[in-house]
Amino acid sequence: MSQAEVIDGKAFAAGLRERVGVAAAAFAAKAGRKAGLAVVLVGDDPASQVYVRSKGKQTVEAGMASFEHKLPAATTQADLIALVEQLNADPAVDGILVQLPLPKHLDEQAVVERISPNKDVDGLTPTSTGRLALGLPGLVPCTPLGCLMLLKDKLGSLSGKDAVVIGRSILVGKPMAQLLLAESCTVTIAHSRTQNLPDVVRRADIVVAAVGRPEMVKGDWIKPGATVIDVGINRLPALEGENRGRLVGDVDYEDVLPVAGAITPVPGGVGPMTIAVLLRNTLVAAHRNAGVALED
Ligand code: NDP
Repeated sequence: MSQAEVIDGKAFAAGLRERVGVAAAAFAAKAGRKAGLAVVLVGDDPASQVYVRSKGKQTVEAGMASFEHKLPAATTQADLIALVEQLNADPAVDGILVQLPLPKHLDEQAVVERISPNKDVDGLTPTSTGRLALGLPGLVPCTPLGCLMLLKDKLGSLSGKDAVVIGRSILVGKPMAQLLLAESCTVTIAHSRTQNLPDVVRRADIVVAAVGRPEMVKGDWIKPGATVIDVGINRLPALEGENRGRLVGDVDYEDVLPVAGAITPVPGGVGPMTIAVLLRNTLVAAHRNAGVALED
């Protein structure tokens, strides 16, 4: 039986980071300063700490300035908003990312809405989401944009393809659907209330799974030859003798491998794309903020 081609997100992301690095050096030469990314972390969530460390490291490796702001878990809404406003006004900062989730007592939406749309490298402000829906240029959420890059690299034109996005979150599902629509796909958005999900998914030439349920999408849900993008990152419980459980996606990889035409693995698929696209978004914002043309 033939096997799906494995889409190497790790290699693609490395290439993207390299291109960003070259463009970041050109920007610094033209603008007289480095492009800058500020990341704000509130509290001590271990996963968020890992992400923030990794973002800071990759930002510096790409030749950009990294500003990390670590605030205690008890930070008030007013103090967090004051920091966002300070970063909005700081000419050395081109991109602002507030690491989510925030501690429960903070209002995420209210904080995100205070980020200047010119510095909204996570693409989550109402201005960015509205511009995406209107088909206007703007900053687009990193994970779905990374998925789109992998899809276009694999398939070329996506026009006319049937795409099913499973998940409707603001961070992944909704912007993913908008991006696919902009590429002239026929898009279905499935979610927890969708009836007969396997039948819905079976229609798709392109499946994007962003659900948060380990190995939910099975091989017999997939149209033979379809391209499957697995956004999910789920850690299974540790088996006996294991320190930590295995990382798996929302797609049952082994089950889907013999059916799909191409598939992203977990880890090594969509995951590495997210930070690479964040760096790219920061560079795009830097060019706009400094009034310097971006040569693509
Ligand atoms: P959310 O929890 O915000 O959204 C999950 C979506 O899945 C919701 O729309 C929900 O529907 C839907 N859903 C839940 N259960 C089912 C079901 N049984 N059948 C169909 N749909 C269902 O998650 P995110 O979008 O933030 O993240 C999704 C996954 O992607 C997670 O595993 C996360 O860790 C991962 N992720 C990976 C990133 C990366 O860099 N690779 C970045 C961001 C996320 P409803 O709206 O009806 O509740």
